[in-house]
Amino acid sequence: MQPAITVSAIARAPNGPAMLAKGHFEMEAAGRHFEVRTTTVRTPLDRFMWLLLCPACHRRCRNLHLMKELKLLCAKCAHIRHPDQQTSGSKRGLIVRRAQQIQRLSARLARRGLGRVTRRRLRRRKERLLKQLAAALQTRQTLMAAQAQALLASLASQAAELPNAATSAFE
Ligand SMILES: [Zn+2]
Repeated sequence: MQPAITVSAIARAPNGPAMLAKGHFEMEAAGRHFEVRTTTVRTPLDRFMWLLLCPACHRRCRNLHLMKELKLLCAKCAHIRHPDQQTSGSKRGLIVRRAQQIQRLSARLARRGLGRVTRRRLRRRKERLLKQLAAALQTRQTLMAAQAQALLASLASQAAELPNAATSAFE
């Protein structure tokens, strides 16, 4: 599952360090407003590393995932809370499975000597699977677009908000 927000991507952006140093930043995703809190940890070489706080469990994490139901969650929460739900990872699995089923059905339909009833049954099944595949692809596309938009919007809003903020608080 691709995360929607990664602390390393933010840190690389022009205003990213300021966003992280402020302790929280705001972002929009798919018309919804999110506030993400940030924190630091001390690394062995006595340097600081930025981390995000999961909005659900408040654990420190490097990445946050935007779920289908438009919640931001750390990988642990995303996994624990939504084992059967269609995260982009399992979605990808579903897409592949449906495509394989359709391929097998097409191969069966291409054979000669199928009974009329069987052929009709297989055709209907293939149509159903094609519809499911199209829906799964559509959902995935929407989710990916929302994730990309979320990251861009968060960076843009911070850039507008903090024109000259101190960017080197933790250097
Ligand atoms: Zn969490």
